[in-house]
Amino acid sequence: MADDARVASVPLAAHLAAELRRIREADLYRTRRVIDGGHGAQIQVNGRSCLNFCSNDYLGLAADPRLAEAARAALAQGTGSGASALISGYNREHQRLEEALADFIGTPRVLLFSTGWAANLGVLRGLLGRDDALVADELNHASLIDGGRLSGARYLRVPHADVTAFDAALQETAAARLRLLVSDAIFSMDGDLAPLPELAAVAARHGAALMIDDAHGFGVLGAGGRGTPEALGMRPDIQVGTLGKAAGAAGAFVAGDTDLIEYLVQRARSFVFSTAQPPAVAAAARRGLELIREEPERRARLFDNIRRFRDGAAALGIALVDSQTPIQPLLLGDAARALSLSQQLFEQGFWVAAIRPPTVPRGTSRLRITLSATHQPGQIDALLDALAAGMRANP
Ligand code: PMP
Repeated sequence: MADDARVASVPLAAHLAAELRRIREADLYRTRRVIDGGHGAQIQVNGRSCLNFCSNDYLGLAADPRLAEAARAALAQGTGSGASALISGYNREHQRLEEALADFIGTPRVLLFSTGWAANLGVLRGLLGRDDALVADELNHASLIDGGRLSGARYLRVPHADVTAFDAALQETAAARLRLLVSDAIFSMDGDLAPLPELAAVAARHGAALMIDDAHGFGVLGAGGRGTPEALGMRPDIQVGTLGKAAGAAGAFVAGDTDLIEYLVQRARSFVFSTAQPPAVAAAARRGLELIREEPERRARLFDNIRRFRDGAAALGIALVDSQTPIQPLLLGDAARALSLSQQLFEQGFWVAAIRPPTVPRGTSRLRITLSATHQPGQIDALLDALAAGMRANP
């Protein structure tokens, strides 16, 4: 490399200070708020009561005492699993949860991971290598992007939900050993559904496999809450679901055929080399799964709330993105505008997250409103009024 092309060495402290300044000046600086207590939609933040409109606890199970009770019973054996699942961390609670999930989804086998991030990384890095190709929707979750990059496979990023582009990308990668098409099922920042039946047909036509990340659909969509595949009447080769959203606990699973699961047990590094989730968390997730099954009225309430929010927004002239799921984005464009509106709403007692780059593409900053079965109709109406007033004040 020529001398003049070399990057000058900088001390770490100077680098961090400069980068943080740059992030702050672009209105992209992120901070955390501390939750002191409360449960469901009504929580206390920094000692103040507020309504949570940005949680993924879609069914209100995260604070359900029955999940806490299931966890408490399992805690009698201790807190930590003590090891990875392949060493000595695989507890009866994990096995019961895997079996319950497989039975619920109607799939031969399920493998637990400690997070959805770990599941996506484990599958993609474990399954694909340099001779393979990954065809991915451009708006896929960050964990799918990172997993794909880490795999070393050829990575083709296609325009959002563009079935023809997926088709062309598969055509282009006909020489690859293994071809995997991967898509979020519900897009986490937009709330729209992937065209899964069409993607399954395209994959089948090319002899490729289809993986979906149903983090936001599991427990929410489908008559039985089995997720986006149930709602759309299809079955992917690989289905990832998370347990920290509708199921009210934490962790994630991969569902598929026996050989897929056995292979992941051998090769998914985030499974092999990571401590198994605490058994109490698995117990809570299994109770959450039972309630997803037994209390369909939670889903009915959630969809009533989605309808109320969308109808109310239309009546007030608030233009929403076309989403029929609990994720309801309000596109604002400018990061500073999204931040200021979010801050203003917070001061009025509504917690609505401002989503900015790099989470979403530049110029598409937004408020991401998520609805839950626990929101009361009056709370949704109050948020709508505050949103309309905020939009008027921040044109
Ligand atoms: N996939 C999607 C689509 C997600 O939205 C998320 C989390 N926000 C994940 C995967 C990661 O799941 P986890 O939070 O369990 O790591």
